[in-house]
Amino acid sequence: MTESKQQVRDLVHISAGMKTSDGDGVKMTRLIGNQELDMIDPFLLLDAFGTDKPMDYIGGFPEHPHRGFETVTYMIAGRMRHKDSMGNVGVIGPGDIQWITAGRGILHSEMPEQEEGLMMGFQLWVNLPASQKMCEPLYQEYTSSQVPTEQHENGCAVRVIAGTTDKGTTGPVVNQFIYPMYLDVDLPKGASFSQVLPTDDHTLIYVLEGGLLVGDKETALAEKQLGVLSRGELVKLTSTAADTRFIFISAAPLNEPVERGGPFVMNTKAEVLQAFKDFQSGAFA
Ligand code: FE
Repeated sequence: MTESKQQVRDLVHISAGMKTSDGDGVKMTRLIGNQELDMIDPFLLLDAFGTDKPMDYIGGFPEHPHRGFETVTYMIAGRMRHKDSMGNVGVIGPGDIQWITAGRGILHSEMPEQEEGLMMGFQLWVNLPASQKMCEPLYQEYTSSQVPTEQHENGCAVRVIAGTTDKGTTGPVVNQFIYPMYLDVDLPKGASFSQVLPTDDHTLIYVLEGGLLVGDKETALAEKQLGVLSRGELVKLTSTAADTRFIFISAAPLNEPVERGGPFVMNTKAEVLQAFKDFQSGAFA
């Protein structure tokens, strides 16, 4: 009897994203949700923002609506103030996470809580299943001290924001409809990180600093690049730089039709039109 070998995931796509601006002139790199990568089901959008020029972030994201998905902000540096129609107000700083299930609709603003210095982080949009797009909105916020860090013997440090690692560390985010894994990993040069996942999960890696070799083919993924992985059970990554840091995001695809209308993401055009009508009639306030 031979044990069946786990299929190791390879890199199937590498992207540097596209420079864009959103909100009131906030400069960012759109990694998902652009012409190159429309979506990686269930991830509708991934933005990386990172600048120390106040002019590139000071405008922030004044009040705007969302419906039909979850918006997730993870801060690396700097502070953002969030305020929404459900009465939630919070300032998130380095290592803090804000996970908003917009469901049937929220109105919120996301503004920088600083006038100078570095502002860096990620915004991810996670789609909701058709049956839950109109669910009650839910707001979750966790400080960096609530995000557990798993230390490995090889020097690898894994901050677990959502999901459960192979070693059993579970992140603080409580998901009800869709269960992404969201990790922020430090990996010393030459050290490896591995994680077992459901075969059909869609998995993304973004290198914040340093570099990685991915899978058995050891395909290189460089700093500021997004890598999309193939199907398979096992993720295997090895650091090629002294201080490699990467974001790891994975979830099962929904395989449902997607219709986008700016801040609304639904399953049909009629539902998107309805969202605009509801917004205009004040249903989100
Ligand atoms: Fe927003």
